[in-house]
Amino acid sequence: AKHNGKQRSILFNSNIEKDLEQKIILKNRIETALTDNEFILHFQPQYNLKTMEIIGLEALIRWNSDEVCYRPDEFIPFAEQQGLIHLIDNYVIKMACQQIANWQQQNIHVPRVAINISSQQINSKTILKLIDNEIVNHNLTGANLELEITEYSLVESLKKEGKQDSWLSHLHQKGIHISIDDFGTGYSSLSYLQHMNINRIKIDRSFIEEMTHEKDSQSIVSSIIALGHNVNATVLAEGIETEEQRRLLISLSCDEGQGYLMNKPLPPEDIAKLLTS
Ligand code: C2E
Ligand code: CA
Ligand code: CA
Ligand code: CA
Repeated sequence: AKHNGKQRSILFNSNIEKDLEQKIILKNRIETALTDNEFILHFQPQYNLKTMEIIGLEALIRWNSDEVCYRPDEFIPFAEQQGLIHLIDNYVIKMACQQIANWQQQNIHVPRVAINISSQQINSKTILKLIDNEIVNHNLTGANLELEITEYSLVESLKKEGKQDSWLSHLHQKGIHISIDDFGTGYSSLSYLQHMNINRIKIDRSFIEEMTHEKDSQSIVSSIIALGHNVNATVLAEGIETEEQRRLLISLSCDEGQGYLMNKPLPPEDIAKLLTS
């Protein structure tokens, strides 16, 4: 009890109170943004590096509002901390399926759309149900969808659930693809890859960035490509910005890529043009 007074004074003299207030404001802001439909999706094309054919689209959330301009790598981690991420993930799944259906109604042939699923959501029964429902509601099939899960969250979930993971097999049965996001940044142990059916590995942008001037990064990239092929996954390089990177990746037998060299994430209208041109 003696220390309480001192601790309290530290608390109130610091910025903690102000930070808390700010957090509550931002939390409320996210909640209203969800109900007011301020979040929209942009899509970044994914290419076969040899044929330069579009083989997929990654859905990336944007906060479309006049007053705020937070980027997803700011508000997504915050939403995860604050227990709001399931709301965002649900919203994105619904919006992505709606958008696929829209394009299909315009007779556009839509490649598989990859949705980012946050770490806390991948074991969730609710999200599997939601995905099933959205597929049915919009006349889609599992072949329309892919889920991107970071390496870190995938391994954490396997630790909890064990190797014969039920959500993974559920998705496989539906024909929904799984890809590992930010590969290379999460774990040094790769043994988990043997036990599961991963369709795609996405090499983290940091390696692609360094690859052309650092031999070590290039070795890592070529090891990841070999590893991916060994477990029957295709390998996609993230964040390709230069022709030099693209050429090097092709020479290292990397299958696929996305990045500013080809396209930035684009609004649905621009994607429609790209897919029909
Ligand atoms: P991520 O899943 O690794 O997404 C790739 C990020 O790299 C995107 O940033 C994309 O715009 C950016 N990018 C693509 N090509 C290039 C390039 O050539 N150069 C550079 N410098 N950047 C490139 P974005 O859209 O700002 O998203 C950041 C992160 O926020 C994502 O990283 C993902 O972790 C998260 N995120 C975005 N949308 C969603 C979502 O709908 N749901 C969830 N749960 N997370 C999301
Ligand atoms: Ca991603
Ligand atoms: Ca990534
Ligand atoms: Ca990332």
